[in-house]
Amino acid sequence: MSDFAQTVKQQADIVKVIEGYIRLRKSGAQNYSGLCPFHKEKSPSFSVHAVRQFYHCFGCQASGDVFSFVGKIENVSFPEAVRIVAQKMGIPLPKREFSSPEEAAEARQRTKLQELHETATAWFEEQLRGPEGAVAREYLAGRGLTPEGIAKFRIGYAPDSFNALRDRLKGMADDQTLRASGLFSSKEQGDGTQGNLYDRFRKRVMFPIANESGRVIAFTARTLETGEKAGAKYINSPETPLYSKGQVLFNLDKARTAIRQFEFALLVEGQMDCISVFLRGIQNVIATSGTAFTEQQVAMLRRHTSNVVVNFDPDAAGSNAAEKSIALLTEEGFTIKIVTLDGGLDPDRFIRERGVEAYTAAIRDSRRQSDFLIERARQMFPGASADQKVKAMNYLLPHIRRMPEKLARDQFAVDAAQKLGIDSAVLREELRQAALRRRDHVETRATALTEVERVLLRALAISDPENEDARRLAAQALADQPAWFEHLGTYTALQALATRQARDPMEVVDDQAQRALLAEALLAEVKPPEASEVRGAIQEIQERSIEHRQRQLRSFIAEAERRGDFAELALLTQQKLDLDRTLRQLHGHRPPKA
Ligand SMILES: [Zn+2]
Repeated sequence: MSDFAQTVKQQADIVKVIEGYIRLRKSGAQNYSGLCPFHKEKSPSFSVHAVRQFYHCFGCQASGDVFSFVGKIENVSFPEAVRIVAQKMGIPLPKREFSSPEEAAEARQRTKLQELHETATAWFEEQLRGPEGAVAREYLAGRGLTPEGIAKFRIGYAPDSFNALRDRLKGMADDQTLRASGLFSSKEQGDGTQGNLYDRFRKRVMFPIANESGRVIAFTARTLETGEKAGAKYINSPETPLYSKGQVLFNLDKARTAIRQFEFALLVEGQMDCISVFLRGIQNVIATSGTAFTEQQVAMLRRHTSNVVVNFDPDAAGSNAAEKSIALLTEEGFTIKIVTLDGGLDPDRFIRERGVEAYTAAIRDSRRQSDFLIERARQMFPGASADQKVKAMNYLLPHIRRMPEKLARDQFAVDAAQKLGIDSAVLREELRQAALRRRDHVETRATALTEVERVLLRALAISDPENEDARRLAAQALADQPAWFEHLGTYTALQALATRQARDPMEVVDDQAQRALLAEALLAEVKPPEASEVRGAIQEIQERSIEHRQRQLRSFIAEAERRGDFAELALLTQQKLDLDRTLRQLHGHRPPKA
């Protein structure tokens, strides 16, 4: 690790940094826990140690320091993670160092692409304010957007030109980088090469798409043309090194604080719906942008909440994308409620026509997903005939099976039977089976740690010079008398720690199971052990090792007796007597228990 990384690590607060990504609750004197962002779970097995500055997940064994966390969650290299943490902590960056020329080139390109997007955003905003932007301003005003709202979302206008943006940006980057930005198009030539670049977005209202840190990485563009020339109503930036559609949730950068505060996310389909709802004060709103959720998007959302209120366009509620998103969220254990708006309005129109109070009331009245689905089944298959009931059930069964928790499935099945008036024993049995189908995942955490091992692990993990005595005692004992420690389940971890020098304790233990045991010991710690505690632990280990040896000797003695090997017998008996005496002495010196 470079000196700079070392400095950043010392100054960084891992709890603060991780809290920027997921919700943490204080769960001990020095530790915090939350839902692991790296695997699916319903109850928290992810812990962060505030003093020792590491995180550890007992579910998926993800583990490491602040850089490893940021690297993993942002999917960036180590140097990039160091930079990100430094920026968060307000530590000025030195000249950049990279591990390979490719990595340097990639980072340079990303930075350049971000600059291009930033400049393009500002330029589109400027165009919207200018004379050419009049039509766009009129369109936005018609949709109820104020200048403040427009500024907040940095909405802009791409004028009706093939080269205006290109001319603005061409001094900033080479052709290859401009091409990679996704802001331009080109036509394939007769010889297979790409022709000149021209502006991709023309005569369109530009909605920036930001990543979770609020940096613009792409655009959605709405046409202002009508008739044949119009083309698609909305077009988006293509996938670029900065932007991948499945990895962005629209407005999450602005909504995430409110999502955590209110403990749910309001999910709408369109970006315009999202902007409109947000600007009227409901700030925990995000948009799917009309396509089905991806697993990455679900994972991003889970870092902030596991409760979602869905307000999809009623026409679209049955649509493939909406249904797929809800199905995925259900499978991932989210609690889902569904809003239905009067008069079949979409959120944008509803809130403009009926006001924010009516909208808030509609959110409050949102129904559990199961109630919503049962209602839908009744509407789709009305009537009391057995045939209709079978159809309604067949519609519901896959939804029931999808729920990861047995309790929720049971409840759903009972409700469905009741509300659909299913009295047939056969159908009831089928519902019951659907509820049984999935096995709940029970997390069992084996606690194989003895108290003595806890003390030793903690002592060997000491880094501050103040408690150095305790550390040295433990390390010395391991070096001098390895045999005493050999039968301990944590022997590998203890050995690694004893010889770790200046490195981080969690870093030196490579074996996953061993690292989990170390994490368990450290996370339960209130303060580092004192020298006297360590002495007591060592003595207990020594006693246990003697007892172990005594048991061995007893069986050797019995064996020698059977064989009639009296020389051997005398030797073994002498050894046993020596051990007995040592043990008695140790017991006599046992320090009084605190
Ligand atoms: Zn995990």
